[in-house]
Amino acid sequence: MTKLAMEGGRPARTKPLPPNYPGATVYGAEEAQGAAEVIHAQSPFRYYGPNVKNEVRTFEEEMARHLNVPYVLGVTSCTAALVVALKALGIGYGDKVIVPAITFLATPGAVVCANAVPVFVDADDSMNLDPADLERVMDKDVKAIIAVSILGNPCDMDPILAFAKKHNLYVIEDVAQSCGASYKGKVTGTMGDIGVYSFQMNKILTAGEGGALVTSNPELFDRAVRYHDQGMFRDKARYGIESADEEKAFIGQNYRMSEITGAVLNEQWKKLGGIVSSMQTRCRELQAKLTAELPDMKFRRLADPEGDIGSNLGMILPSTAFTQAFIKAMAAENIGAYTLYGSRPVYMLPQLFHQRTAEKDNFPFNYPFENPVVYTEDMCPQAVDYIARTVYVPISPLLTEQDVEEIAEGIVKVYRHIAQVQV
Ligand SMILES: *Cc1c(COP(=O)(O)O)cnc(C)c1O
Repeated sequence: MTKLAMEGGRPARTKPLPPNYPGATVYGAEEAQGAAEVIHAQSPFRYYGPNVKNEVRTFEEEMARHLNVPYVLGVTSCTAALVVALKALGIGYGDKVIVPAITFLATPGAVVCANAVPVFVDADDSMNLDPADLERVMDKDVKAIIAVSILGNPCDMDPILAFAKKHNLYVIEDVAQSCGASYKGKVTGTMGDIGVYSFQMNKILTAGEGGALVTSNPELFDRAVRYHDQGMFRDKARYGIESADEEKAFIGQNYRMSEITGAVLNEQWKKLGGIVSSMQTRCRELQAKLTAELPDMKFRRLADPEGDIGSNLGMILPSTAFTQAFIKAMAAENIGAYTLYGSRPVYMLPQLFHQRTAEKDNFPFNYPFENPVVYTEDMCPQAVDYIARTVYVPISPLLTEQDVEEIAEGIVKVYRHIAQVQV
């Protein structure tokens, strides 16, 4: 067996891998020109200016066409899209919303911003929410489920949608990490009532910041537009939506997307197909090589292997100690590998665990629920276990076959060493 780089052996790679920002690493002259045109037109605001290019509008139309949904609304971030979605659904004080134990802080954070309280369901070996645990948190105050597709892997939507239907719950799909994913031939983000996307730096497509909300429901879209634009609906004619302002108007906020963001996203959106097919190809090559060399290796389960975008290869290792040793040894081989979110379920973050908000009296957690919402460390034991021993290797769209060869070599070497030492 070859020596680990950590112990003085030759590292599997000498050059660093491309940075893990799929959209940003394929930026080119097109994004620069799109943004420059908005500047030259002196019209960075979507609704008026001397020479509005309608970049946000075009982006919304293109995204709608690609996803085959009638309504897309560009907003400032996915956190904003989540808040707008919850407001559109009329969710607020006194309501509970089901959130997976493994997700980014933004998901439960948006629930709290909408004055509702998150309740957490466990994860399974896909790292997405375990539909079998939904019943545990269910009561009359639960109004919605936010299904998060973690790192490119679509949620198992059939049982989630069936549960939601049975209990009359709304479904929001948080697709922040999984733009381009699909489930049984359906586009992830278009199966529930509302889907939300992120275009932050870390995501598949990016303008640095940005988000979008998609829906097929004109009533929800009407409310979403109003909430995102100070309670106004400026271009109803575009959608053929008739609504009496006096009756429908309510107070909103400002989550409008800028034209510069729209222009960059218009170019990014054209590249999605290429980014996804290249990640999928490389991810499958890597998994095939590892499967051949390491028959014991357990991979993260994919609800629909065809629909996974391949942005990361997830490996479930035998223990937490194995995982930590693996990450350290891989770093010495010049191959990044990581666990998600500091290896902890989101509810273990102190601000959530202690239910601390910026508001008086711990609002909205102070609502006198019939079943009080209390978080305990072991309430989602599978999530606690899986998150600490599932390690991800990011798959950049820029990886070459040679890169995949070297990554596989590094993983095989490190895995065998640790397995030998730890058994
Ligand atoms: C990144 C992320 C968000 C928030 O997206 P922003 O655009 O940064 O607000 C929400 N949910 C998940 C699962 C995310 O990964």
